[in-house]
Amino acid sequence: METSDFFDEGDLVAVLTTQPLDRLLDYKAPEGGCALGAFVEVPLGPRKVIGVVWGKGRGDYDYAKIRSVIRVLDAAPMREEMRLFLTRAADYTLTPMPAMLRLATRAPGLGDPPSMRKIYRLGSSMPDRLTDARARVLQVLRDYGGLSFTLKELAEQAGVTTSVVKGLVKLSAVAEEDSPRDLPYPHLDSDHASKDLTTDQATCADALRASIRTDDYGTTLLKGVTGSGKTEVYLEAVAECLRQRRQALVLLPEIALTSEFLTRVQDRFGAQPAEWHSGVTMTERRRAWKMVGQGAAQLVVGARSALFLPYQNLGLVVVDEEHDTSYKQEDGVLYNARDMAVLRASILGAQVILASATPSLETWANAEAGKYNRLELTSRFGSSMLPDMRAIDMRDETLPSDRWISDTLQKAVQTRLDQGEQALLFINRRGYAPITLCRACGHQIGCDHCDARMVEHRFQKRLMCHQCGETKPIPKICPNCGAEDRLAAVGPGVERLTEEATKLFPDARIATLSSDLYGSARALKAQIEEIANGGADLIIGTQLVAKGHNFKNLTLVGVIDADLGLQGSDLRAAERTFQLMRQVSGRAGRADKPGQALLQTYQPDHPVIRAILSGDEEDFWRAEASERRHAAVPPYGRMAGIVLSSPDIQEVFDFGNEMARNDGPLRQVNAQLFGPAPAPIARVRGRHRVRLLVKADKSVPLQAALSRWVAQFKQPNNLRLTIDIDPQSFY
Ligand code: ADP
Ligand code: ZN
Repeated sequence: METSDFFDEGDLVAVLTTQPLDRLLDYKAPEGGCALGAFVEVPLGPRKVIGVVWGKGRGDYDYAKIRSVIRVLDAAPMREEMRLFLTRAADYTLTPMPAMLRLATRAPGLGDPPSMRKIYRLGSSMPDRLTDARARVLQVLRDYGGLSFTLKELAEQAGVTTSVVKGLVKLSAVAEEDSPRDLPYPHLDSDHASKDLTTDQATCADALRASIRTDDYGTTLLKGVTGSGKTEVYLEAVAECLRQRRQALVLLPEIALTSEFLTRVQDRFGAQPAEWHSGVTMTERRRAWKMVGQGAAQLVVGARSALFLPYQNLGLVVVDEEHDTSYKQEDGVLYNARDMAVLRASILGAQVILASATPSLETWANAEAGKYNRLELTSRFGSSMLPDMRAIDMRDETLPSDRWISDTLQKAVQTRLDQGEQALLFINRRGYAPITLCRACGHQIGCDHCDARMVEHRFQKRLMCHQCGETKPIPKICPNCGAEDRLAAVGPGVERLTEEATKLFPDARIATLSSDLYGSARALKAQIEEIANGGADLIIGTQLVAKGHNFKNLTLVGVIDADLGLQGSDLRAAERTFQLMRQVSGRAGRADKPGQALLQTYQPDHPVIRAILSGDEEDFWRAEASERRHAAVPPYGRMAGIVLSSPDIQEVFDFGNEMARNDGPLRQVNAQLFGPAPAPIARVRGRHRVRLLVKADKSVPLQAALSRWVAQFKQPNNLRLTIDIDPQSFY
């Protein structure tokens, strides 16, 4: 290595901070020196900020004026592998390094000194005078054996005031000790309780275990229908990874999924893993960050940003439901966690498992090309079978315009209810109705700040913009023509479907599952669990229900509008619809009862609908792949989306046109530029949005060309420019 790994006091070091500066800053190493990669606190103007020692200082500044690092934080230095990962990820996503470092330090109180708290346990002597209250405290401590309590916990358990406990401490009857606030996670036992695997599952588990033992990089697609035991199989890979004394990470797409998952980890390994997602408290976040960094968390279960934790020895990353669109971060740093997992593992010499029933075309193509291994679970576990899938041709149904459940579907639901089974009606639309229309003048109520319609949410009695979240009361008078009581809800949302179902199935207990109907992820989790345990007969849900939850008694899935996703201009529209329909249908018949999926469609002959029904996935992927190859779009070509936004419509178009006129750096790599054009949603939160799209051959250094291109322009102050490599959404 060219730089030394340790800097003595007074040596110049270059520090990367989390502040939006475009270069590293020089500091003097503090008393006692500091290691390469050390997390440090440094002065920046009047403030103190967190940074990482990135290398030797440049020394192009008056040494006497350079300030010292304030102190080295109580955390293991960032490993070289992690620094390389952040650098490569920044290059790939065209993200400034400080933003990458922010992503890698997203836990509160990292700069705080190691914090301690007082804990209480049984002391060494008995007090002479034992009051009732004192006796209760000692009894609690005896009852719980060697366990220790915080002051508050102990007082509450014993039903006494904290001063009673304090009194006992003075008499040495209760011992007061300091203990670190951030406790290590309990040990996970690889051999706690593994299930007997089927032959199919065992073959896959063997292959995965062998790949882990190579101690080398590799990515495996683990494909299998919902319920085939992918989770069981990859938990065996996790077990092997822990046996090798390496850390493991399981990424899940939805917070709502984790409670069920944590229980499975508990069953398999005898204890709970570390959790990392937006629903975790700040204290738990800091604990997870610190313990992962000390190697005292063997397994992390988390959302995409868990990929940026300071693992000491990461051996395996599982990306469950790898095709899920929520892996693509759409705010701040635009990265795809699936791709970043592969990047991090390839730097580390670790394994990646991409699990899915319906892989993304990218992953499917990588497996086809032999870049990824491929393992397949072909049947469902036990006696459960794949649902029988059928279309309901809506052209043959006579349905009034304010109803969405066809007679055929209604009868099918009724049959299931009569048998005491659960049914699910799926519609991928939140709210009551997507359009509020004035019957007098034809006006549709839109958002004041966005180029979007307001969606009626009847439970909340408000109209809501799904772009910016703005709400307003449902008006009685048309804001355009002033006509009274002529506003009508048009089209169905999940709430309206519930209304219809309540009329059709008056005796059924109906539960509506939509992400906006619950105050918290916790409330939602609780509701899902209650439903799974038989708390409802009929579930009406949005795409929330498509993801992984086990409803054991669910035997019928009705898709209200299978055509919905096919209408978009999105290059992945077909793929998304295919995945979503297969996933939702997969909810039916998980346990021992055969299931059925019924898809209401006006286009039963559409190739995507036919592929969904036929069950011939490989055919679908091959056809889709060949279309993308012809169009030279991902995964067979590269794309970047540039979105410009500004409150000033003229400015944003002028800037876009200037970019288009000066596309030399793009032409040098034979990249094609499209636009500027108004974005599909041309105004969000009062900002006008313009898109440019760049398409290039797979082999060209697109990021470098984009950087050179963008660097030519001076951005007006209130204009925002974002570059999205491999864009997943085109809004
Ligand atoms: P997937 O992840 O593919 O959806 P799961 O791993 O969740 O499938 O398996 C579906 C259900 O079947 C789960 O309840 C799981 O515990 C059970 N299961 C799968 N394989 C086995 C096995 N070999 N022994 C016992 N139960 C199993
Ligand atoms: Zn809006």
